[in-house]
Order: sequence, then C-alpha cells, then structure tokens
Amino acid sequence: KQAAYAELRDVEPFTRCGTRIQVMMNAGLRDDVAALALTGADGIGLFRTEFQFLVSATLPQRERQTRLYRDVLEAAGDKPVVFRTVDIGGDKAVPYLQSDSSIHDENPAMGWRALRLSLEREGLLKSQARALLEAASGRSLYVMFPMVSEPWEFDEAKAVFDEQLAYLRKLKRVLPEAIHYGAMLEVPALAEVLDQLVGRVSFLSVGTNDLTQFLFAADRANPKLAARYDWMSPAILRFLRRIPQSLTGYDIDLGVCGEMGGRRMEALALLGLGYRRLSITPAAVGPIKELIRKVDLSEITKAMTDWLANPPDDMRAAVNQWASERDI
Ligand code: PEP
Ligand code: MG
Repeated sequence: KQAAYAELRDVEPFTRCGTRIQVMMNAGLRDDVAALALTGADGIGLFRTEFQFLVSATLPQRERQTRLYRDVLEAAGDKPVVFRTVDIGGDKAVPYLQSDSSIHDENPAMGWRALRLSLEREGLLKSQARALLEAASGRSLYVMFPMVSEPWEFDEAKAVFDEQLAYLRKLKRVLPEAIHYGAMLEVPALAEVLDQLVGRVSFLSVGTNDLTQFLFAADRANPKLAARYDWMSPAILRFLRRIPQSLTGYDIDLGVCGEMGGRRMEALALLGLGYRRLSITPAAVGPIKELIRKVDLSEITKAMTDWLANPPDDMRAAVNQWASERDI
C-alpha cells in the first residue's frame, strides 16, 4: 500500500487546463495522519472527532481530547486540518451518553445525533471547544459542525466556541492565530437557505453520504436500497449543481467530503458541477489526483450541463463512455 501511495504522492492535481484542485483526505485516528505525507494530500478536509468517543468506554476527558487534537495538528505540520465536532448518537450510539430512555429514535440517522445532541449536551460541546482552541494555540483552526439543518444551529454552536475563546483570552492563553468555522451540508434543507449562511460560515463541506440518503430517503447502509442510493443519478447531481451556483459571488469556500469524491466517475462529475475541493479516503487520493490531470474543466462542465438538461437513461454509462473516449 505504501509503495502505491508513494508513486502518486508527488502528482500535483492540476487539471489539463491548469486549474489546481484541492485534494484532501478524511481521517479519524491519530495514526491516519501519516497518510498525509504518504499520499501528498493537501490537508485533512474531515477529521471525524467522534472516533475517539466511539472507542472509549467513558466520555473522553478534555485533556485527552486536547492531546489528540494537538498530536494531529503537529503531525499535519503546515497542512490544514478540519476538525468536525462529534457526530455521535443515532446509529453511532455511545453508552455513556444515553438520554432519556423514553425517547427512542425510530429513524436514528434523522434522530438525536451530531450537532443536535452536542447543542443539548452543552458540556460536551464546551469541552470539545476548549480542547480544540487550546490544541490549536498559535495555529489556524478549522472547525466544522455536522448535520446543520438550520442557520441558528450553526450560530448556537459557534457561540459556545466564542464563549470558550473569551475565557481563554481572559486567562491570557495563547489563542489560535485564526479560526474558521464551517458547516457540513448534509441535510437537504440547508441547501435552501444558503443565502442566510453568508457572513456566518467561512466554508461549507458537502457530506454526500448523508445528503444522498436524505435526498432519496434511502438508508445508506441498507444493501437492499443500494440501487436507489446512486451518486450518478440525475436527482443528486442536479441537487449538487445548485450549491456552487447559489454560492457564486459569496466568500464561502466549498468542498465535498463524502465518499462520492473518492470514486473516479463521481469525482469527474463533481468537477463538472463546479466543485474544486474534494476530501476523500486516503487510498483514493493518488488515483483521483491522476484523474484530475487528464480533465479539461470546460469540457466536463459542458458535458454535465448537457446530460443534466436531458438525462441519458444510464448516466453512469454515459459518463464512463465519455471518460474512456478521452483516456480518463
Ligand atoms: C457524510 O455524511 O457525507 C460525511 C462525510 O459524514 P459521515 O460519513 O461521517 O456521516
Ligand atoms: Mg454525515
């Protein structure tokens, strides 16, 4: 695996027409960070902080959280790391955070999870905020909130960070040099209010794993529904196209951090829809960088526009054929 990574490590993801695409990787464990140097990824576009919570029998103490985040930042060196606050609850249940046993989630993916849980368990979010702010002292910090469905949720979460920041300032601690707050766009409703996020978030990261399951009302883990959960179907592609379009002219960085971006034809489609930053599984970084080198953006943009105006019966086959005709 390491040899395969090394071969493509130094490939610079410039398209054939000369645009530099950001190729970042997803991670969740301290040891994952080694893949940054091995793959040559531009940074960690999604660090799933809940892994530490999921492998722990008790709520991780703030000091342990701080240590992990500091280790990750140190191992990443100059490359940015986007920390996502915990996405636990729902199907990622942790025994030490049981709420009210009378409340049962019929649909855990749409239930009391992620930011919904963090906002209610304020102590949890506070300690995570403190840990992140302390770990990033003197550096840039990127914080991302999962499952934001409405702008006020983002505001409330950020307020918890602001409060911890003010406290650290009072203690005269060394603060992060810069803090960037963003939201995951994985609940379809958020896409309808992007204008209301202007001036609030500095970046948005589309979580295509959850977004797709919510758009199609198809459980992402149920193999019986796999055919109804298709990233190459016109419905999700048209949905995804509207996001960069609605953000044109606004100062919000946009990326995709779901598994979709790590698949070759899907990555090609995303480039054609206007996405210029992908955060993907480390094993896909090399292959996707190679693909990017072969792509002409205006060509794929035009092809996507034509396909989505008049979708072929089999979108995947059409994109595949188009790509193979161009040796992609
Ligand atoms: C997503 O939903 O696309 C995502 C990246 O988050 P997760 O897979 O952790 O839910
Ligand atoms: Mg998600």
